[in-house]
Amino acid sequence: MPHLCPLCVTDENTSEGRTDDGIRFVVCTHRSHGPDGFVWEPSAPPGKSIRNDGLGAELSIWDRLLELFDEDEDFIPYGEVEDRLFEKYPDIAEKLLRRYGHKFRDPAFPSSQYSMSAYLASRLRELEKEGALQLTWRPATGEWAHNGVISHWRLTR
Ligand SMILES: [Zn+2]
Repeated sequence: MPHLCPLCVTDENTSEGRTDDGIRFVVCTHRSHGPDGFVWEPSAPPGKSIRNDGLGAELSIWDRLLELFDEDEDFIPYGEVEDRLFEKYPDIAEKLLRRYGHKFRDPAFPSSQYSMSAYLASRLRELEKEGALQLTWRPATGEWAHNGVISHWRLTR
């Protein structure tokens, strides 16, 4: 089944992969996403709870992510969410880093196409679908600039 890239809105550059622990993901290699491509998890089938994921349940990742946001603040870039996770819940962040790797955080744990960032962004997306978070796309800056645009998040108002 072809997957539509949510950013390019075509399926011309998308293909499916699977992590060692069985997570299905899609990568879009359109050059606008930089050398690593844009990676996301396809939506769970309708009716299947999004909080079924074993690792996510073990880490209570959805609740932990929501705790990283302040009530009154505007959209923050994905990279800031990740920084806050490392500050507030270093054990969780380290566990994900070791399991899925990261593009630039630690040379000892490099990522393949799927990274801890793809994992966390997919969980944020689920929170958006639940109505807890709002998402917008804006130009990526700093260490994330290779992505072109990056997701920005805030608590739903
Ligand atoms: Zn794309």
